Parts: sequence; C-alpha cells; structure tokens
Amino acid sequence: MKDVNGLLELQHLKKYYTVGETTTKALDDVSVAFRKQEFVAVLGPSGSGKTTMLNMIGGLDRYDSGNLIIEGKSTDTFKDSDWDAYRNNSVGFIFQSYNIIGHLSIIDNVEMGMTLSGVDAAEKKKRAEDALVRVGLKLHMHKQPNQLSGGQMQRVAIARAIANDPEILLADEPTGALDSETSEEIMQLIKELSEERLVVMVTHNPTLARQYADRIIEFADGKIQTDSNPYEDHDTANNFELKHTKMSYLTALKLSFKNIMTKKGRTFLTVFASSIGIISIAIVLALSNGFQKQIDQTQQDTMASMPVSIGAVASDASGTQSVMSGQSKGFAKGKYVKADLSQSEKTQHINKLTTKYVDYVQKMPKKDAKNIAISYSTGMNLIRKVDGKWQTVKFSNSDAGASTIDASAMMASMTGVGGSVYPIDRNGGQSFLKSNYKVLAGRYPTKKTDVILVVDRQNNITLSALKNLGIDAKRNQKIDYNKLIGTSIKLVNNDSFYQKLPTGNYLPNQDYASMATASSTKELNVVGILRVKSKNSDGLLASGVVYSDQLTKEVYNANKNSAIVQAQTASTTNVMTGAAMDATTKTQMLTVLGGEQTPSSIQIYPTNFKKKDQVLDYLDKYNTGKKKADQIIYTDMAGQVSKLTGGMMDAITYVLVAFAGISLVTSMIMIAIITYTSVLERTKEIGVLKALGARKKDITRVFDAETAILGMGSGIFGVVVAWLCTFPINVILENLTGLTNVSQLNPVHGIVLVIVSTVLTILGGHVPARMAAKKDAAIALRSE
Ligand code: ADP
Ligand code: MG
Repeated sequence: MKDVNGLLELQHLKKYYTVGETTTKALDDVSVAFRKQEFVAVLGPSGSGKTTMLNMIGGLDRYDSGNLIIEGKSTDTFKDSDWDAYRNNSVGFIFQSYNIIGHLSIIDNVEMGMTLSGVDAAEKKKRAEDALVRVGLKLHMHKQPNQLSGGQMQRVAIARAIANDPEILLADEPTGALDSETSEEIMQLIKELSEERLVVMVTHNPTLARQYADRIIEFADGKIQTDSNPYEDHDTANNFELKHTKMSYLTALKLSFKNIMTKKGRTFLTVFASSIGIISIAIVLALSNGFQKQIDQTQQDTMASMPVSIGAVASDASGTQSVMSGQSKGFAKGKYVKADLSQSEKTQHINKLTTKYVDYVQKMPKKDAKNIAISYSTGMNLIRKVDGKWQTVKFSNSDAGASTIDASAMMASMTGVGGSVYPIDRNGGQSFLKSNYKVLAGRYPTKKTDVILVVDRQNNITLSALKNLGIDAKRNQKIDYNKLIGTSIKLVNNDSFYQKLPTGNYLPNQDYASMATASSTKELNVVGILRVKSKNSDGLLASGVVYSDQLTKEVYNANKNSAIVQAQTASTTNVMTGAAMDATTKTQMLTVLGGEQTPSSIQIYPTNFKKKDQVLDYLDKYNTGKKKADQIIYTDMAGQVSKLTGGMMDAITYVLVAFAGISLVTSMIMIAIITYTSVLERTKEIGVLKALGARKKDITRVFDAETAILGMGSGIFGVVVAWLCTFPINVILENLTGLTNVSQLNPVHGIVLVIVSTVLTILGGHVPARMAAKKDAAIALRSE
C-alpha cells in the first residue's frame, strides 16, 4: 500500500548555468520527494544550489532536464500560463529581503496574489486581514510598509505568502536578515504554518533548522548530500487543478497610479517635459485655427461687399495676357507707324446684357445666391412738392450709379458696386439690407414704393443725391434725419407725364398738380436712413437714394406700352426733339423711356464664400460654346482678394506642425527612457509580482498603464497649458497686429492631441514594458 500523501517530486532535475567558458551545475541530478505536510529545512554552503532548487519547486525558474511532478502531474508539458497559475494557486514565497512593494499599503501587498487571481474585493480584504492577524500584525496592518521593523516586514511577507492558502510555502533564508530573537519568533510562525502544508525552507542556521524542522536536507555542489527523513515509498494522486490568473486593466492602472504617486516630483517633471511637444502643436493649431477663422470671416464679409458683378463693359483678363505677352515682341522694321487699340481698349469687353441673359441668371439655384440685383437704365418720372412748388426730381446718383460699372469695375466695387438698387431676397425676404445695413432713422423698406437713403460711415450723402431730392444744401451742412424721413415723391407714368403736341412731338407736361393726383401715379416715401454695419460691407450700395430693384420692373411694366414708347418705337427721329438718331441712340432713348428692358448691370451675391464657386460655374456655363463677342464676362473681386490668402495659411501650418511634431517624437523617446528607468527600478517588484503568479502580459500591462497615465497626463497638461497660453498670445497679437482672438484652440484638436500623446507614449513605453515582462523572475529576485 503506497502512501498518498505525496505532493511534490523532483526527478533527476538538472539546472546548469553557463557564463562565458564556465558552466555551473546549480542543480546536478537532484531527485527528492516531499510529503503534503512537513517542515523541510535545506542546509548547505552558499552557492550550493539551494535557491535554485527552491525556484524550481516554486516554478520561478525552468529546469533544464528531469521532471517535476506536482500531485502526480508531470510539469514537463506546462505552458507559461500553467506555471503562472501554479505559483499563484499553490505556492507562497518568503524571501530573505522581504520584497514588500513599497508604494502599496500593507493590505494591498497581502492582497496582491488574490488581486491577480481575481478574488472579489470583500473576500480579498477579509482573507488578507485574517492572514495579517495570523502572523501577529493585527495592530499594525494599517501602517505603511516603511513604518515597520524587519521582523514585522517579514511577517507581512509571510501573510502575503499564506493569504491565498497555498499548499506549498517556500522560504529562502527568511531569518537571514533578522536578529536571533526575531528569528526565533519567525521560525515559530513558520513552524505553525507547516502544520497545514509543506514548507521548504532554506537556511544558513543549522541550530534553528534542527530545532524546528521535521526533515533536514543538506546540499553541496548542486547535489543532495544527506536527507534526514527521505520520502521514498510513495505514490501521488493526480488530482491537480489550476486556476489561471489574470490581472485586470484596472488593477494594472491602480498599481501604476500608486507607484506614480510615490514619486510626484519626478512624475510632474516627466509630464511637463513630455508635454512640450503637445503644447507647441496645440499652439500652432490654435493659431492656425484662429487665423483660418479670421480669414473665413473676412472672406465672408468680403463676399457681402463684393458681389460677382456683371456690367455693360468688362475687363477681359485674357486680353490683358495678350497685351503682356505682346511686350516681348521684337522691334518693327520699316518706315511706318501703325494704328492700334489702347491697352484698355484691348482688354475691354462689351457685355451684351439681354433679357435672355437676365432670365438665365435668375434661374440660378436659389441656395447658391440668395440675392441678385439687376439695375436697369429705365428712367423714372418723379415729381416732388418743395416749399409748395412742384418740381421734377431724379434718383440716379450719377457719381456712383449702377451705370458706372464698366472696365474700371475695381473702382466701382469700392464706391458702390450695387449702385442705387438694393436686391430683395429671391424668396421675398429682406435679409440683404438687414444683415448689412443698420437703420439710423426710420425703418427698413417693406414695400416696393419704400425708398431709403444710404449714407457712408461718416453719415455723408452726396450733394447731388440731395439735389436730386430737391434739397439744396451746402457742403458740410448737417441735415436732421427728420427733414428727410417721410419725404414723399410721386412716380408718374409716361402717359400722364408726357403730352403729345399738335406737331406730333412729345413733351413733359407742366401741370404737376394734376399729374400728382392721377390714378396711375404712385407715391414713394423715404422710409429710412441706413448705414453699413461693418466696414467690410462698405460701398455695398452707393450712398444716396436707394430703391428696390422691383420698383424698376414696375416702372417698365407701366411704361412699355405707353404712347410715347409706341411713338418712339415707330419713329426714326427723337419724338421729343425731332432730331435724327442712329440705332444705338434710339435704343438708349427707348431704354430711358421704359420701352426697352436691357439691364445696365447685374450684381449677384453668393450665399457664402464656398457657394461662389457654384455661382461662377453657373455663369461660365453660359459662355461655353459662345463666340467671344457673345460671352458675358463677370468681375469677381472677392476671388481676386482671397486667392492671395488661401494656400498661404495651410502651408505655414504644415511647416509649424512638422516642427512641433519633432518635439513630440522627442518626448516620446523621453518617455521610453523614463519607462526603462522605471523598469530597472522596479525589477524587484516585477519579481514579486511574478512570484505571486503574474503573467508576462500582466507585467507589460502594469508598465503600459504607467505610460498611459503619463501620456494622458502630459497630453491633458499640454492642452491646458496651450489653452492658457492662447490668452496672453491673443493680447500680444492684438497689440502687435490689431487682430483680435487670433489663437483659438479647437476642442476637437485638444482631444485629438491628448489621444495622440497617450498613444505615442504607450508606444514609446511599450518596448521597455515588454523588456520588463521578459525579465527572469528568478534573476529579478536575486538582484539586491
Ligand atoms: P545558494 O542559494 O545555495 O547560495 P544558488 O542556487 O543561488 O545557491 O546558486 C547556485 C549556483 O548557481 C551558484 O554558483 C550561482 O552562482 C549559480 N547561479 C545561480 N543563478 C545564476 C544565473 N542566473 N546565472 C549564472 N549563474 C547562476
Ligand atoms: Mg541562496
């Protein structure tokens, strides 16, 4: 009948270390078996292989050959994870140098093995406390490790070793660093613990060994020399089961966080140094973001003040080019002078603005251009009673009217491209005036018959505009708003305004009073005085009398079939003067009378800067396939301005980000170095964790968690610092350039940078973390 109390059996175990030329036989064919319950003391001179055997038994190190049988199960097929589980479930280690993890509390230290095997918190705490009570530390368990004496430290180590209730307790010279009195106490404790399990204890002290141990094995030169109580006739039941360990990410984070907290100063310096890259990138992004916003804003403002305009005459860019290239021609030979066009004549293009073209423009998608203003040269018959006397008045602001759009469109755009007509939104709204103009007095126009006065930023209005309204003013004379608001003007149609003389000629009627009361006469009212809201929309409308583009349409409709128009259409002479006229003059005459509806200019206000491209595409489409002379050339002022600013910003940003990126890489390398240092520093801890059953992965995880904390910390720190920097930067830039709010950190950029910082530092720290995981636990624990 064989004994079934066997737990461990070493069969011909060999472990050789080769360093350079020499090979040390640390274990040289060791065969020994242990009972489930006994106290074995291992004696022997230093270097005889005692620790090596303990490490083999504890699964901290691998044997070269032979076999280790645990409860009847051979370990030669054990995978790493099986060894990890074995150490965690079945083995408790006690070391001479205690190996308590300094940055964890006593309880945390004792709990670590159970933390690794995933015991729940309450159970873990209870078992840890039980173990601490068991080793006699009831009163000291809430102290910090560095507040304990050597004997107490060793008790903590013993509590840690037995907390998981292992079958095997391995002690490597546990009293080696203790005085004799404390040593006795510890031996007594170990003796007690050996009542329930197998204890294998290495010691230098034969007296203590003989006093406490049940069995003494003497070692020399990697071989067992004597065994006081060998266990030979044995059999072991194979009822061995392993519960695998796994450290959760949270545990890894907690462990790293506690470690980081023990060296706050260094952590702060690390975080600060490695955040510099993030700070610089964040500032560059903030600046470029702010500048981009400024540019976008300017572009948008510019858009409002610079519509795409189409005048009767345009400057043809292709013409300019041919003039430029013409300059490189050689010198003429021969004795002659040659007649040629002037440069401006060469580049001048006559736009044949027709009703058909207007229709085409008006079919433009509404989402691309909310406002289109079309000016006509149609004259209006206007009369006004001034000081009890009727007189004719005019609305055209001859100094900056719609008709001034010509080759010098550039000038026109500065002095009021929109001319004296404001557009009504194509969906009927009044957003154009409301978003660009502010009411100084009166109100915004609501009806076609509402007329407004537009003044410039200094409230100037031209003398001629006033004169046209029948107001005689001297230069610099100030006129009260009230004198202008409410001014009433009568709009008379041709049939009431012109009378046919017996001669057949037409002349304006002089009987204004009856004209004013005619049923077809409309009353126009000056309802408001308006001024531009921002300097960007300066010159949107010429200062002076401004009316709706719908009003001209009304006038045209009222007059197109009037008697004078019919007469003029039929006649080749001027129906008013009887003078002969050519085709062009006749057309002009008809246009003024309202018989011909050719627009004098078109202003298209794109909805926003991006939509302008669609507008231009739409206009370009009209020209495709048309002869040069039939093409309509537009002027895109905003485009000419924005082309300059566009790509510049991007280019500058890329360069700056690239530079800042270099500092980010630098901080990544720094983190790698710091992690590496930390790995070296924490070698012992790695060994302890492994002895407690941590997997390689868990070790990697601990260091990855540490770098993640550092990376995230420096990311957040960097972004916050950069954000704080934006304020002084803005103040400085405002003083230097007058631009406000130039640096603006986009929150999305901030978040991305924190992520980038975290990922990069994890990457940088991962290699040292892997090195840590690969560290040989046995060697780690040997290091002092
Ligand atoms: P003991 O614990 O009895 O003092 P050890 O088991 O620690 O002895 O060491 C046995 C022998 O193996 C010694 O000669 C030691 O130098 C050698 N040894 C132990 N570990 C290593 C190692 N990692 N590399 C090389 N030699 C080693
Ligand atoms: Mg040793």
